[in-house]
Amino acid sequence: MASNKTSSAGEGQTSKRKQDVPADERAKNKKVTKYCCVPQCTNYAVEGMRFHKFPQDPKTRQAWIVALKMGKEVTDHDWVCAGHFLQSDYLPQG
Ligand SMILES: [Zn+2]
Repeated sequence: MASNKTSSAGEGQTSKRKQDVPADERAKNKKVTKYCCVPQCTNYAVEGMRFHKFPQDPKTRQAWIVALKMGKEVTDHDWVCAGHFLQSDYLPQG
């Protein structure tokens, strides 16, 4: 009796190598994320969270710096999250 084994060596050996995803995929994230610059505050921009820039007026800006205990100079690129404001701090809309 001759064995009827079918040798299929060589088949199914195609190498499937996936292209590796770059590790720094966050670098391509188009979403600009804002972080609160206030010390001890770790809030960052999420939906529903308002962020504010420091006022252009030097006096008002200084008042913010004191009130927020910044302890450092702020720039026009710094953001303050809404967590440091009271509802009454906002001017009425309209
Ligand atoms: Zn904050």
